[in-house]
Amino acid sequence: MSYRPARGQSEAERGEGLVGRTCGRPSDRFVHGLPTRHKRVEKRAPEPNDRSADEEDGPAAVTPGEPGGELGPPWDDLLAAALAAVREAADPGTLEAARVRFLGRNGEIPAALRAVGRLPAERRPAAGAAGNRVRTAVAAALTERAATLSRGELDARLATEVVDVTLPGRTPRQGHPHPLATTRAELERIFATLGFAVAEGPEVESEWYNFEALNMPSGHPARDSHDSFYLEDALAGEPAQGEGRLLLRTHTSPVQIRHMLARGGALPVRVVCPGRVYRRDDDATHSPMFHQLEGILVDRGISMAHLKGVLAEAARGLFGAKTRVRMRPSYFPFTEPSAEVDVSCVFCGGTGCATCKGSGWIEILGAGMVHPAVLTAGGYNPEEVSGFAFGIGIDRCAMLRFGIDQMRLLFEGDLRFLEQF
Ligand SMILES: [Zn+2]
Repeated sequence: MSYRPARGQSEAERGEGLVGRTCGRPSDRFVHGLPTRHKRVEKRAPEPNDRSADEEDGPAAVTPGEPGGELGPPWDDLLAAALAAVREAADPGTLEAARVRFLGRNGEIPAALRAVGRLPAERRPAAGAAGNRVRTAVAAALTERAATLSRGELDARLATEVVDVTLPGRTPRQGHPHPLATTRAELERIFATLGFAVAEGPEVESEWYNFEALNMPSGHPARDSHDSFYLEDALAGEPAQGEGRLLLRTHTSPVQIRHMLARGGALPVRVVCPGRVYRRDDDATHSPMFHQLEGILVDRGISMAHLKGVLAEAARGLFGAKTRVRMRPSYFPFTEPSAEVDVSCVFCGGTGCATCKGSGWIEILGAGMVHPAVLTAGGYNPEEVSGFAFGIGIDRCAMLRFGIDQMRLLFEGDLRFLEQF
């Protein structure tokens, strides 16, 4: 507990006590009230530990080693010892020990201040003021020494922790889109310029959307070519009534059915449907997962001529202005008539090379006029409207664009391969 003037003191005593406690500078009355003996002592030369030479009656005015002197405890000795301990503290730990020793709750200076309370009432104000000045001086010295020590620590760290500014920086790895992603985006962009919107649908489909609605009823031989991944019932949950089992879609054509049904008979139907599809093929030229972009256009009076015009425009957009397109008769269950569509070889320009096996043509997609049964399943009357549909392998397009000879390379995620594109 620090020194406090007791209640009931005289006005003079209380005033002097407050002065000593609050500003550390005694009033004139205090100076004049000093006994002669002390006046003599204060004339001596100021010692280094004195707070300042101009404080005529600072703590140094006490005769050292006089516990019961007019100013109470031996403040001079305490101040000298505390300042020496602070000065000699070479590290923060030692400095903290000095603080605890002199200013801690049970430290020497608080103990001496408590002793002031036991002095005769007329001596308490002067003794308390002297003690408070000692305490303030020691606290200031502690603060200054702490700042000096931390400056020293910083200097030492700056001297030892050298940063080598000549070391090369760490370059962040720059990513870029996968060749499949850029090819899909390019296809979407080309068909967007022809008025097609982009539609997406679920990769887990029911047999109805994946087969029946596309004119492949149960038992249809074309289903055999779509070796499918069926889902375990527990995984799949219950498909809607009459939709059969659930499977990973084998093509993106179910999205065309979903889109037609969503349009509710409105014309035109004009979308492309990109996405992943799954079949149980796994060899050098096939992957169990690959990418398709299928398209459909349904309106009044649509013919094969429209189909060829759209595909020729798309091929020129993808492979260059000189690309030519040809159609060969083919068969698909969901189109009638159907065609395989070839583009002039992008490598040799049509003169024949190893990639096109000397033919000058490369097969890139299948297409045809939408089968009446498919229009009906989509909610349209085949007597009133007609349409065409096509399906492009995005992976095959990417291989042709970038000269990649193995489809697997697109799916293996090998950065040494992918960083070339
Ligand atoms: Zn060729």
